[in-house]
Amino acid sequence: MTEQMRYYSTNHRVPDVTLDRALLQGQAGDMGLFLPERFPPLTRDDLLGFVGRPYPEIAFEVLRRFTQGVFADDTLLELCRDAYDYDIPLECVTGRQHIMRLDQGPTASFKDFAARMMARWMSRLMEKEQGELVILTATSGDTGSAVAHAYHGARRVHVVVLFPVDEVSDRQRKQMTTLGGNVRVIGIEGKFDDGQAMVKRAFADPDLKNIRLTSANSINIGRLLPQAVYYVYAYVRLADVAEGEEVVFSIPSGNFGDMMGGTIARRMGLPIKRFVIATNANDEVPNFVRTGEYKTIVPSRVCISNAMNVGHPSNLARLIDMYGGHMDEKGNLIEKPDMDRLRRDIYSVSIDDDHTRQAIKDAYDKYGTVLEPHGAVGWAGLGRYIEDERESEDTLCISLETAHPAKFPEEIEAMIGIMPDTPPSLVGIEERAEQYPVMSTDYDAFRDLLLTHYST
Ligand SMILES: *Cc1c(COP(=O)(O)O)cnc(C)c1O
Repeated sequence: MTEQMRYYSTNHRVPDVTLDRALLQGQAGDMGLFLPERFPPLTRDDLLGFVGRPYPEIAFEVLRRFTQGVFADDTLLELCRDAYDYDIPLECVTGRQHIMRLDQGPTASFKDFAARMMARWMSRLMEKEQGELVILTATSGDTGSAVAHAYHGARRVHVVVLFPVDEVSDRQRKQMTTLGGNVRVIGIEGKFDDGQAMVKRAFADPDLKNIRLTSANSINIGRLLPQAVYYVYAYVRLADVAEGEEVVFSIPSGNFGDMMGGTIARRMGLPIKRFVIATNANDEVPNFVRTGEYKTIVPSRVCISNAMNVGHPSNLARLIDMYGGHMDEKGNLIEKPDMDRLRRDIYSVSIDDDHTRQAIKDAYDKYGTVLEPHGAVGWAGLGRYIEDERESEDTLCISLETAHPAKFPEEIEAMIGIMPDTPPSLVGIEERAEQYPVMSTDYDAFRDLLLTHYST
């Protein structure tokens, strides 16, 4: 029997669990977040062995270190090949500065990477247990479509997505409502927060105890582990691996799931010199890194990089824990992390909308590179870092582009006067037939719908 990795809660009040439990539970019983008890090493020889290999194989090598004893190697490799059947372009912008485009998946957002792997993991677990699982999620746009696509067609797993009918774009809606099958999408006559409240109530509702409900948001450890992989991939593609060259990654951040993937890769031994953590005007984390004091932003500030409009990142408790501190589920800093170490590893900067727009324009005018607002926050953050810290021109730098420019055509046309090409995954979506009921925010009606369709 292979020894299984254990996962602990950042609140440390419940026993450790194995990966299958952590995946199906989502959040720990003490409201903490799960983290692996250790970070299995990636040695320089391991990394040398990855050079030139395709993404699915590197994903397999990285992930098997966390999934041993839960998924057989041949199963995991098959899942990786199935999930990662699209490109990950690495573009040189200038000198040693690169963009990694994580936007070629079915919903043209980096969230496809984690959602697709987590969906396959959960479906396999349900087949093993001969059970049925219902994923409940409320969305303001992008998460819902990434989750719906990832689980579409997965055996023994159903998806219910609530979205505010008046607040998502036609394209965002159609990405969810044209799927059908095991994906049920419901429009809510209300706001995102109303949908979120209905989902929360359902999780706590004793009348629904015969339905196995779980969430798919980035508090689930299954949403983080797969995000460690692309840092490793980019490194072995671009760095001088034999020399152990160090790299700087710039990450446009909202809930800090993406950056947790990077932090996991670094703890495994990937030679990361510094992370640039770039936020939009929601600057609670840059302020925290600077001052050591943490204050949430309520309500969160509205910016053009709208997937990053987060006033209190749900993964911050994990980052604090990995640096020896403790933050509870409400965002209270119970014990400060090692701030010196944190600052050595992380440079954090806030980029407002004006600077985001300017970065879109500059990247295009100077280098012919097309960025959308989230990637532009990362790119602008990298520029600030290089200037502020007088980083050498010879240092390998990689900035993450997290969405496809075609998802933000108005913003891009206004800044650089071109319409970005639509990626194949989004072509023709406007014409597809869609189906979705619209409900009020009445919880009882929602409960009845769940009972009617999913009660066993
Ligand atoms: C979700 C999202 C982000 C932020 O990622 P986090 O993991 O929440 O920090 C950035 N860009 C895009 C396009 C996103 O959808």
